[in-house]
Amino acid sequence: MRLSKAFIPTQKEIPADATIPSHQLMLRAGLMRQLTAGVYAYLPLGYRAMLKAMQILREEMNAIGGQEFFLPALNPEALWIQTGRRNIPNFILSVKERDLVLAPTHEEVIAWLGSMHIQSYKDLPQIWYQMQTKFRNEPRPRSGVLRGRQFIMKDSYSLDRTFEDLDKSYEDHAVAYRKIFSRCGLKFFEVKASSGAMGGTGSQEFMVESESGEDTVALCAKCQYAANMEVASSNAPKIERINDAKPVEEIHTPNVRTIDQLAAFLKVDQSRLAKSLVYRHDGKPLLVLMAGNDQLNESKLSAALGGGTLETIEAGQLEALSGAEGGSIGPVDLKGFRIIADKRLEGANDLVSGANRTDYHLKNIDLQRDVKVEGYFDLRTIENGEPCPQCGTKLKISHAIELGHIFKLGTKYADVLNVSYLDENGEKKPVVMGSYGIGVERMIACHIEQSRDEDGIIWDKALAPYAVHVIAVSMNNKDIVLISNQIYKQLADDGIEALFDDRPNVSPGFKFKDADLLGMPFQIIVGEKGLKNNQVEIKRRKTGERKLVAIADVLKELKKMLHE
Ligand code: ATP
Ligand code: MG
Repeated sequence: MRLSKAFIPTQKEIPADATIPSHQLMLRAGLMRQLTAGVYAYLPLGYRAMLKAMQILREEMNAIGGQEFFLPALNPEALWIQTGRRNIPNFILSVKERDLVLAPTHEEVIAWLGSMHIQSYKDLPQIWYQMQTKFRNEPRPRSGVLRGRQFIMKDSYSLDRTFEDLDKSYEDHAVAYRKIFSRCGLKFFEVKASSGAMGGTGSQEFMVESESGEDTVALCAKCQYAANMEVASSNAPKIERINDAKPVEEIHTPNVRTIDQLAAFLKVDQSRLAKSLVYRHDGKPLLVLMAGNDQLNESKLSAALGGGTLETIEAGQLEALSGAEGGSIGPVDLKGFRIIADKRLEGANDLVSGANRTDYHLKNIDLQRDVKVEGYFDLRTIENGEPCPQCGTKLKISHAIELGHIFKLGTKYADVLNVSYLDENGEKKPVVMGSYGIGVERMIACHIEQSRDEDGIIWDKALAPYAVHVIAVSMNNKDIVLISNQIYKQLADDGIEALFDDRPNVSPGFKFKDADLLGMPFQIIVGEKGLKNNQVEIKRRKTGERKLVAIADVLKELKKMLHE
């Protein structure tokens, strides 16, 4: 592509509304433009990189037996009402005039196809995938294409006979994902994750560590334990039993509301305080006990309760239910509440908690003796530096970006949408499904987050829109024009994709700056000085290393460097 004819609107200034490096560079290098919040137009250079990514995705999906589809983005609303996902917040955009929704993912449509055409065990297994536009009602799209309201996803779905077969499809995807991200030059890690809006029995995310990430993860440098904070656990110590069997005693604690105030007032360690948090779970009152100032993790709570709706209880209602204001609620003799507790408190005694009487607390509480705890679960949000649950090394909490996510869905969608098959004995069984997604733009943006410098993007050759950027230093010099055109033609004849800066009346400095900003892996610089010795310069963008090569050898030399 000749830059004199190309539409690559580069800009020197950092766009004011772009706060993270990949967003800034994707705008500055003319890869895309924002049409409206979370909606981007991909310009030719950006789209070329996306096509490269999509080709890698396609090859690796085909390698595990995937078959490519193209499913509609417009879906009948009724299908989403059937699976109960019509009203998930932040998920679905609707086209009210026609009772349609813009699909945020495609489990529903896949299940609809499966319900019509999967009949016998002989029809299974299947892996179906597509690369298609998704729409999501993201509340605050920022960070450029990392979180758009419209984006392209490679989504695939496995349909299997049994859960064991699902394990294989899931593992095949994990292997394919590792290959995809490695081929794209991404430094990634894998974490245990929560299944969120997808539901199901197991899930894993592929992440890149990045200051720009909206996810937080806990990482162990020693044993490679890695988990999303939604599910991360640690070996935080249990609250020890203290061996004295004192009776429960009420104490007056006027105006003491918080755990910090209570610890100061009673002069006890925070860990001896049992904090009571109250919710309605599926409409029924629930009290959750946490040790001291431990933070409750709502994803873990939701998982411990096996899903369902969780709502907070308003202050007015709370007093009616428990007989006390918020700061004085506690588990002893509390009527009408289910009680669960964090596992740090399992079997603990000598605790202080609310007395269910405003401005009073109880001390010497023994959870085994005085409270009917329905179950102890890991419910707390872990903190930086706590011991790794596998090896005890201090965990580091980092920001990360989710590149891809794989889920074991099980029979959730098959049950609702009637996707079933007849097994060898003629018995009807539900199809066991999996769901697997990778965001195409996110992959590009993550690569740029990881591979850039102050001058611009540094493309890995797998994703680079062009392999080489030929620079004719001046178009006023006949020899430069001749030789640069000749090299550009040789590259084309050899199937090497090249950009050619043949712009007249653009200063060399400007051309060099643009070449670094656009970031193709190699630059071939054709200038006056080199030509005097029949040489041109090859520059490696990543390291800045430059090499003078004879004009006759440039193609051979470049190919060698491209294959390194
Ligand atoms: P997140 O937790 O970041 O909101 P998600 O869990 O909703 O993502 P999935 O439903 O697992 O995402 O979608 C699969 C993949 O699609 C994600 O791993 C990500 O790469 C991509 N993706 C999801 N939402 C967006 C978005 N709003 N913009 C760009 N890519 C996205
Ligand atoms: Mg996810």
